[in-house]
Amino acid sequence: MSTVVFEVGAALLGACVGSFLNVVIYRLPQEDPARRSLGGRSHCPHCGAQIRWFDNLPVLGWVLLRGRGRCCGQRIAFRYPLVELLTALLFLAVTLWSPWNLPITIDDLGGLHVDTARAVGYGLHLLFVSVLVACTFIDFDKQILPDAMTKPGMAIGVLAGIYPGIAGPISRDASTPYALRTLLASVVGLAVGAGVTWGIRWLGSRVFGKEAMGLGDVKFLGMIGAFLGWQGALLTLFLGCVVGAVVGGLAALRGGLGLRIPFGPYLALGALIALFAQDHVYVFLFDTWPEWQRRNPSSQFLLLGMAVLSLFALFVLVRRGRRAG
Ligand SMILES: [Zn+2]
Repeated sequence: MSTVVFEVGAALLGACVGSFLNVVIYRLPQEDPARRSLGGRSHCPHCGAQIRWFDNLPVLGWVLLRGRGRCCGQRIAFRYPLVELLTALLFLAVTLWSPWNLPITIDDLGGLHVDTARAVGYGLHLLFVSVLVACTFIDFDKQILPDAMTKPGMAIGVLAGIYPGIAGPISRDASTPYALRTLLASVVGLAVGAGVTWGIRWLGSRVFGKEAMGLGDVKFLGMIGAFLGWQGALLTLFLGCVVGAVVGGLAALRGGLGLRIPFGPYLALGALIALFAQDHVYVFLFDTWPEWQRRNPSSQFLLLGMAVLSLFALFVLVRRGRRAG
């Protein structure tokens, strides 16, 4: 027996959770409270017919139906299997790479050992990536990051701080219990993530006379900080700005300047990079990059490029604020 069974199981669980996230993404932002409810069977968005359970199987249902509804033959958006596949991959990634990876070990005799603390941390981080996926697509659709996601997310993030996580302990002082130091790292991460975003929002409203970022972004980055610590929160904001600037810049070139660009998806992507590759990014930013710059003096131009890029990022932020106002 090997842990492959559990890794495949994690991916399958991810696909099922992704199927539920499709429901959350569609129903949560609805204005009508009755349609906002997450219970009840799924219905075809075209003809309203109830969807049969075997057609609703994650990914497989869509593939077997070849992307068309059994009820009315209308096209089923590729988005649905995409969200399921993405969640499956993220669950697998948490299982394989993260500091809390599979909390199960198998000894030589085939006996199972479960590390309870790591199991809880593992579960909470599965929840974290699920919230990131849901928020990404809700923000993409509706340009909002709902409180119903970010507020419990912040609470769960702080709770996750008690368990071994990526934020690590806030100090090396061994006289204080380890769990307390990691919990503090979580709280500080929340404060820095929300605080810095709030600061940018405040500065934007001072300089440009309008909201540069939404309050949803503030809570969203607070949640990310609670899970990833203050370094992770700042890295997420930096990566989110860079990716948002590039994508937003390209989109603005293609579609004119009237575009509404949500910031949540870029923050979520930044958070995932910070979650899985934080150490690699730090090595690049603080070792590889400065070393390369010393050897190539002309790289100043690249630095200039980065500055222009950052300006673009600011531009993207302000666009978001404009539609919020
Ligand atoms: Zn239909």
